Amino acid sequence: MLLKGKKILICGVANDMSMAWAIAKHAAEEGAEIAMPYAIPALEKRVRPLAESIGAKFVRECNVQNDEQMDALFVEIEKEWGHLDGILHAIAFSDRNELSGRYADTSRENFKNTMDVSAYSLVDLTRRSARLMNNGGSIITLTYYGGEKSIPNYNVMGVAKSALESSVRYLAADLGADGIRVNAISAGPIATLASSGVGGFKSMLKLNAELTPLRRNMTLDDVSGAAVYLFSNLSAGVTGEIHHVDCGYSTTGMIPNSLKDVLLNSDA
Ligand code: NAD
Repeated sequence: MLLKGKKILICGVANDMSMAWAIAKHAAEEGAEIAMPYAIPALEKRVRPLAESIGAKFVRECNVQNDEQMDALFVEIEKEWGHLDGILHAIAFSDRNELSGRYADTSRENFKNTMDVSAYSLVDLTRRSARLMNNGGSIITLTYYGGEKSIPNYNVMGVAKSALESSVRYLAADLGADGIRVNAISAGPIATLASSGVGGFKSMLKLNAELTPLRRNMTLDDVSGAAVYLFSNLSAGVTGEIHHVDCGYSTTGMIPNSLKDVLLNSDA
């Protein structure tokens, strides 16, 4: 019971494939009490049964671009729980028409919207949550390697992830003195609602598995285990960190020999 009695707000559950759901479930198994809002009314029918299965509370609409809904969520949490020990920010959005082709063709409108939903929302959620983290706390966001290197089709989402990762470092510096830690998990690719919007995702998933040192793709258990560690006191000395849970993909600098042979059609 690594998270016994901890009160954790999980933002970003859309369905049972969501990384946020895997993390909520694992955190609940480790003894955490979970708050689980959803983004839009259409998601309620999927999210509510999941929330009920782990006894999660605060199952209400909360779009991070809607200040009134955000205010209402935090008023309710403050009233009923009084404090928070952790939050998961697992939120991203961009116009799927701009998640293929050239980054150079990104529109101003979609650039601003992608940044607002996918990066600024962490700042807003952190500020609101920090007020309630009287005994310190742990804030986790989810990012992807496309924030560090260019990845085909990831485009403006990669730029938003760079901003998100930089925000992690600035927020960690702001809040460390209050015992609040802020970290990101840089997850490997996995099939979800969000990733289905990225052009060519299925073939990328296949290729990725061949390219990682572990020769497989990351699983929901891999990412939820890392999140439990970051929420728990086991990671008490860790903040401002981008923790890669990607089967080692980001540590390699060249494709493995097995694929080189296929690609070059030679014995070298
Ligand atoms: P997902 O579709 O299950 O989750 C994305 C969530 O963002 C959804 O629950 C959606 O409702 C929410 N969201 C979007 N706009 C919102 C808004 N305005 N207000 C509130 N919530 C909003 O997909 P996922 O892959 O589990 O994504 C979770 C996070 O993990 C995202 O930040 C994503 O970029 C990141 N990530 C995904 C992958 C991957 O390959 N799936 C890899 C690394 C990082």
